[in-house]
Amino acid sequence: MSAEIETSRLQQLDHAHFMHPFTDHNDLGAKGTRIIERADGVYIEDTAGQKILDGMAGLWCVNVGYGRKSIADAVYEQMQTLPFYNSFFQCTHPPAVELAHELATLAPEGMNHVFFTGSGSESNDTVLRMVRHYWALKGQPEKQVMITRENAYHGSTVAAASLGGMKPMHRQGGLPIPGIEHIAQPYWFGEGGALSADELGLKAAQALEARIQAVGPDKVAAFMAEPVQGAGGVIIPPASYWPEVKRILAQYDILLVVDEVICGFGRTGEWFGCQYYDLTPDLMPIAKGMTSGYLPMGGVIVADKVAEVLAAGGEFFHGYTYSGHPVAAAAALENLRILKEEKIPEYVRDVAAPYLAQAWLTLADHPLVGEARSLGLMGALELVRHRETRERFAESLKVGERCRDYAVEAGLVMRAVGDTMIIAPPLVITTEQIDELVTKARQALDMTWEALSSER
Ligand code: PMP
Repeated sequence: MSAEIETSRLQQLDHAHFMHPFTDHNDLGAKGTRIIERADGVYIEDTAGQKILDGMAGLWCVNVGYGRKSIADAVYEQMQTLPFYNSFFQCTHPPAVELAHELATLAPEGMNHVFFTGSGSESNDTVLRMVRHYWALKGQPEKQVMITRENAYHGSTVAAASLGGMKPMHRQGGLPIPGIEHIAQPYWFGEGGALSADELGLKAAQALEARIQAVGPDKVAAFMAEPVQGAGGVIIPPASYWPEVKRILAQYDILLVVDEVICGFGRTGEWFGCQYYDLTPDLMPIAKGMTSGYLPMGGVIVADKVAEVLAAGGEFFHGYTYSGHPVAAAAALENLRILKEEKIPEYVRDVAAPYLAQAWLTLADHPLVGEARSLGLMGALELVRHRETRERFAESLKVGERCRDYAVEAGLVMRAVGDTMIIAPPLVITTEQIDELVTKARQALDMTWEALSSER
């Protein structure tokens, strides 16, 4: 069978049977899916033989890059020794124990406990129940309200999507569930108006205090946030934001949940995003980079102060068949060994992130770009009609989506969040590959600019 016939056969079957996440299937059917067949290092390859630089590390997860044989070997070996056993009913198994210990060692001081899950969404569902249960055990059952932010992404299960602040998600399925309050995000380019970045940062942080007071401090259980909002569009808070949030949190008796699903495991140049911003979380949901996506796994790293209360409170009626799955744990352990031995977070901090920052910011001179920003190995470009006024294009023009398609044509996976283009490449990307990424991003911008100019 020729490669073309095989591709078209798979596309037809895909359209007939595969319900994709976050997808308009009529649209997808008309365009046809791209079938990714293999990957190595920072490159993926489709069935048409096109090699594409993966500027999104899969989905913010393939931190150590593709093609790590030692992870495959660890998985193969664990599959043969013990492919599955549960961790309920007084049982445990070596890979999950070792992994819990390793995570406690890597996590900030005073965070020595891990609850394992299968994904970031499950981690955040766990967070919601754990936080509310914690306060109930402390004799304050009225402390149930979680404060989170508009345009945050915390996952797709009922609790996680409710904790997230994505309005289109809330409109489907009757969300959010009760007891969740959303406050403004620290998005200077999009919502800053005439304010300076630091003024906007302060204003967004002070929205937390205002909401705590409106709800009543005795009713607020926790504030939950990503250090840098990822799926919302790589929204890097102004420097004034986190210090002010810290000041506010210190004043009220509420927990801090730092969602590390994207920022964890080296993405910011620190092991965890909370370390980049000097935050002291009580709970840290993790996933993605924990296994570099080689197998699905997530967890919640829990501070001693919370774990001790939970431990004294009898059974916590919560858990998943695959909590601490031995094969996923084996993949995670080998992934963490690679991150440590190859000093990948340090490489991001000292080499790759500063290099990306200067290369990526050169794109700010493009007539389509209203702002270029990056932190660690995450970057964003704001596409605008007028740079001075930050005026956006009409939504119907789908400028971001078109730019994304041109990027693939140029050989780069770059994602569009509306008209914000974002990247988060594997952490092992070399400086030469960063140059290639930025060159291809510029080509995509040029192609978009040209198409828009011919339509004027
Ligand atoms: N939290 C954050 C910050 C995320 O970015 C994501 C996924 N993009 C999730 C939670 C949900 O993780 P998952 O898709 O593994 O359920």
